[in-house]
Amino acid sequence: MSICQLVSQDETHKPILLPHLESVILGRGPQTTIKDKKCSREQVELKADCSKGFVKVKQLGANPTSVDSVVVGHGKEVKLMPGQLLHIVNDLYPYTVQFKEDPGSCKRPLDVSSKDEEGCSETPSLKAAKKHEHLPESVRAEESREINQNVGHWSHGLKASMQDPNMQVFKDDKVVVIKDKYPKARYHWLVLPWISIHSLKALRDEHCSLLKHMQKVADHMVQQCPHASSLDFRSGYHAIPSMSHVHLHVISQDFDSPYLKNKKHWNSFTTDYFIESQDVIHMLETDGKVTVKEGTSELLKLPLRCHLCRKELPTIPALKQHLKSHFLAESRTSNAS
Ligand code: AMP
Ligand code: ZN
Repeated sequence: MSICQLVSQDETHKPILLPHLESVILGRGPQTTIKDKKCSREQVELKADCSKGFVKVKQLGANPTSVDSVVVGHGKEVKLMPGQLLHIVNDLYPYTVQFKEDPGSCKRPLDVSSKDEEGCSETPSLKAAKKHEHLPESVRAEESREINQNVGHWSHGLKASMQDPNMQVFKDDKVVVIKDKYPKARYHWLVLPWISIHSLKALRDEHCSLLKHMQKVADHMVQQCPHASSLDFRSGYHAIPSMSHVHLHVISQDFDSPYLKNKKHWNSFTTDYFIESQDVIHMLETDGKVTVKEGTSELLKLPLRCHLCRKELPTIPALKQHLKSHFLAESRTSNAS
């Protein structure tokens, strides 16, 4: 049997143990270090099921507790899976859950072969959906990832990459640009601020100038690209990112990459799940915060559609084949002119 821990993403305190099938009530208090009066002393009730690999979250307090930006609701209960983000109250105090092999128990073999080298780029809600489908196998994969990467939770991978000179392609006093480790197109960079901002949810109007600077750097990256004249680029944010630390994707629109493997990869860049940088800046300027529309995670399940002509394709290989026809046609036109 594995053990379950609740891990503060703000790293304000050590992980809290959630014993198997025992209710743990948390809120404002020394255990979480939360002092915010808007958080009840009994804000959430958590019950881990270590054999199934999830935690039931019940909102006890009046102010909203949320999982992946969806409010639980007073008196209501939802499941929290590894990889999903729990905010204890008012989009603040982010936590994730981890299931680890109990060091005191006999280790069962881990299915390392099923580990996705890029599990970290899956969105939390998709991971959740996947877990519903194949719970035992993927829970084992999740555990193996946690155990193998004792450097920290996988969702913190960008924090390590942005400090790695081998990954950096540009930097100034405010931001750093790295190559995406699992690029979904010929050119795919991530622009990250040096200051730690957990997610879009944490952005406020005072971040506007930083975001505008990130956009400027993104434009600069495109301009210096040797194929800038023949490729289109977009820069934007995933509405529900899987990796912590705000990051702006700058991605060429060829989507010619072996790392683009599934529907959620495709839809995360070609539906409204991808929010243009300009739109994020506009939201901050007008509302002082970024709001993600309800049902956004459902966009990842939409049928595969070509982003250029909207044709629906049945599979990723068929879509990739279809994309080739666009790019061939384009190169013929440019050769002729
Ligand atoms: P998202 O959080 O959905 O906006 O996407 C995170 C992006 O980070 C994905 O495009 C991943 O391919 C990429 N990625 C994941 N882990 C790393 C890493 N350690 N270093 C650089 N890029 C990464
Ligand atoms: Zn098309």
